[in-house]
Amino acid sequence: MIFLKTEDEIELLRQSNQLVGRTLAEVAKHIKPGVTTLELDRVAEEFIRDHGAIPTFKGYPNHEGKPFPGTLCTSINDVVVHGIPGKDVLKDGDIVSVDCGVLLNGFCGDSAYTFAIGQVDPEVLELLTATKEALYLGIENAIQGKRLGDIGYSIQDHCEKQSYGVVREFVGHGIGRNMHEDPQVPNYGRRGTGTLLKRGLCIAIEPMITLGKRQVTMDNDGWTVRTRDRKQAAHFEHTVAINSGKADILSTFDFIEEVLEKR
Ligand code: MG
Ligand code: MG
Repeated sequence: MIFLKTEDEIELLRQSNQLVGRTLAEVAKHIKPGVTTLELDRVAEEFIRDHGAIPTFKGYPNHEGKPFPGTLCTSINDVVVHGIPGKDVLKDGDIVSVDCGVLLNGFCGDSAYTFAIGQVDPEVLELLTATKEALYLGIENAIQGKRLGDIGYSIQDHCEKQSYGVVREFVGHGIGRNMHEDPQVPNYGRRGTGTLLKRGLCIAIEPMITLGKRQVTMDNDGWTVRTRDRKQAAHFEHTVAINSGKADILSTFDFIEEVLEKR
């Protein structure tokens, strides 16, 4: 069932998502060679709780009911999504996708960003650029009167034209009082097909794009999703509200990019 949000609800969603953007920026300050993903997770959890919110990923059950242990998903190199924060040390040349979700005043925020650590292979940096571009192309198509397939098509087309893989097993989603609401928002599709986009629909658009083939596998921990060919993957995510004109982007990369520009 799809819930369309009122203006007031969208403002609350904006507050939650702005906090996610600020949390990711706080994390960005700590991303450098030598830091562990668990240290990043602690930074995020403290920041979220200090702002009166709850990390929504923590305790979230997987397909077997096993709770996610972290505040963040930290996915290094060939990990696509759902990497568990732990003893993994970030090193020069790595990429790390950091996904963050909060619950504030009854509404969820959800956004993700892939960071480059030190000197990263130009081919991998291009993957990051393409994935972020695909996200914004998807958002350009998130307009009242278009359909979900228009979003998926624009993302898929942009990435496959450049021979990247588009992960299909994991998708974007509706968002509101719950982190995952209907509809599912695939990163592939056919133009003019799927659910009609209506004003007030709030969705997380989150392309997960691979340098090699699109197939993924899951580790024995029941969470960590990797590319089968072990090539790198990138993940960028925004939460947006559908409008009659341009979508209203409720999350933000501005705070993150302010931190990155100071480097
Ligand atoms: Mg997310
Ligand atoms: Mg999401």
